[in-house]
Amino acid sequence: CGIVGYVGSRPALSIVLDGLRRLEYRGYDSAGVAVIDNDEVRTEKRAGKLANLEKALSERTGDGIAAGRTGIGHTRWATHGGPTDRNAHPHLSADGRVAVIHNGIIENFAKLRAELEADGIEFRSDTDSECAAHLLAAEMRALRESGAQGGPALLAEGMRRVVRRLEGAFTLLAVDVDVPDAVVAARRNSPLVVGRGAGENFLASDVSAFIEHTREAVELGQDQVVLITPDDIEITDFDGVAATGQEFHIDWDS
Ligand code: GLU
Repeated sequence: CGIVGYVGSRPALSIVLDGLRRLEYRGYDSAGVAVIDNDEVRTEKRAGKLANLEKALSERTGDGIAAGRTGIGHTRWATHGGPTDRNAHPHLSADGRVAVIHNGIIENFAKLRAELEADGIEFRSDTDSECAAHLLAAEMRALRESGAQGGPALLAEGMRRVVRRLEGAFTLLAVDVDVPDAVVAARRNSPLVVGRGAGENFLASDVSAFIEHTREAVELGQDQVVLITPDDIEITDFDGVAATGQEFHIDWDS
């Protein structure tokens, strides 16, 4: 339901949580975050209000989730699978290297899930969304095995390969431990806005999530993929052709 992403030089967790709080008015049944820290994806997710997530986070010590500088966060309005901790987003790939959050509905998830299960992947939720995490991990592995150069561009290519296989409505955000300073996102029939900062960039389903940090925004067009790194925003269509979103300045009071 609500989506936030951050990459920059400040700790991502508190920025992502603040953003989720700003999106609370939309309603939700669960919330979760993923942060890249020290070659690990750290996640926490809880059914219920953001306060439940914050309590769980406050009980964690020493694993660095509060320090990582790349992060994504989600508030869920369940469509497939009940509002439980395990169905809350983010969803991880089997190897724990990729984390994905999703707004919307992946209409062909049952077929994709059956294919992934036939390949030996065990699902850990009842959501339509989890298949996107496994698909992205598989595409990243295939790209690396084919000798493609690593780095953020590879993550954008992985996402494009995933979304070309999806039907339905989605805003997807993903992080990959092997591409630590980047968040990739895609949208079809579901909103996505980029916030342009200085040495940091933001993603959200609604500008209110990042308005306290920047007022320079880019609204993504239909069927676009965007890759954000601390200093860059790169937009393409689902086939990799360079594209532009709609730049605008937010001039209303927050
Ligand atoms: N369909 C997904 C789920 O049920 C995402 C729902 C949402 O937009 O929050 O988990």
